[in-house]
Amino acid sequence: MECDRCGRPAVHYAAYSGAHLCETHLQQSVERRVRRRIRSDDLLPAEATPEDPVTWLIGLSGGKDSAVLTHILADTFGEDPRVELVALSVHEGIEGYRDESLDAAEELVADRPVRYVETGYEAEFDLQMDNIVEEDPWDMAPCAYCGVLRRDVLADRARQFDADVLLTGHNLDDEAETALMNIFEGDVSQMAQHYDASLAPLSERNGDGTFVPRAKPLREVPESEVALYARTADIPAHISECPYASDSFRGTVRDLLLELEEDHPGTRHSIMAGYEETAQFASQNRRSEDSGPSGTCENCGAPTDRGTCRACELRATLE
Ligand code: SF4
Repeated sequence: MECDRCGRPAVHYAAYSGAHLCETHLQQSVERRVRRRIRSDDLLPAEATPEDPVTWLIGLSGGKDSAVLTHILADTFGEDPRVELVALSVHEGIEGYRDESLDAAEELVADRPVRYVETGYEAEFDLQMDNIVEEDPWDMAPCAYCGVLRRDVLADRARQFDADVLLTGHNLDDEAETALMNIFEGDVSQMAQHYDASLAPLSERNGDGTFVPRAKPLREVPESEVALYARTADIPAHISECPYASDSFRGTVRDLLLELEEDHPGTRHSIMAGYEETAQFASQNRRSEDSGPSGTCENCGAPTDRGTCRACELRATLE
């Protein structure tokens, strides 16, 4: 097959749009969608100036999604004086898993205009995921513990760097899975939270200054296109699965989505379009009822509804 735009050999057929694309036009198409998302999410407001730039903290795991995101941001905004780019990698303390990803992350940022920071659960909490999983004090899935600690590290570093927004590499498949999971679980408050935390344009967020808003500029790009971009643009990225990745519900939803997309191309896009509208209603409803976390952790000062946040509780339990 030939590329619809230039006649060179196509490397990708996007069934949802009917487009055949060569390497160059696939890359341009991904970059265009990322830039469009950044504009529609208001990530670079008119008030940003070289004297008072915005700081974007990028969660860089070293996997293909965050690597592609970091590459595109560095390429597009690396020389823009209105934007400061900081990439943060977090080592969870999982033997044989994260080391190679962090090597890839270091290689990626070595020749790009991005400040790079590396930390880990060991350095931050004196904890390692391997030990937590072995002790399993709260009888939870590994990812639940990992989520508590990662949220804490990201929020803490975002405050430390005075970041305006935390950007992550979630792609269209990730987001459509999350949307379907929330719908299947009937979790309306989770939908509202999802919308407030990362789907709404920055200018519409109802933040109180304690939570750093999230953004997912790759959320219109299917995973297969991100993977192809990484391969064709020769982006350093490490592809391996965490040994604790055992979220069976997400796995079931992923398989279902793949099947639906195969039979009905465009399903992921239409799920997200309808979901965003529903999640926006849920968010408006929630805002009229309450205003989010009401206090801060008595131990570390992180925003929380309880006296002590979950990360401090976990640390205390393990001690
Ligand atoms: Fe942590 Fe789960 Fe991701 Fe592994 S799969 S890094 S345990 S969140």
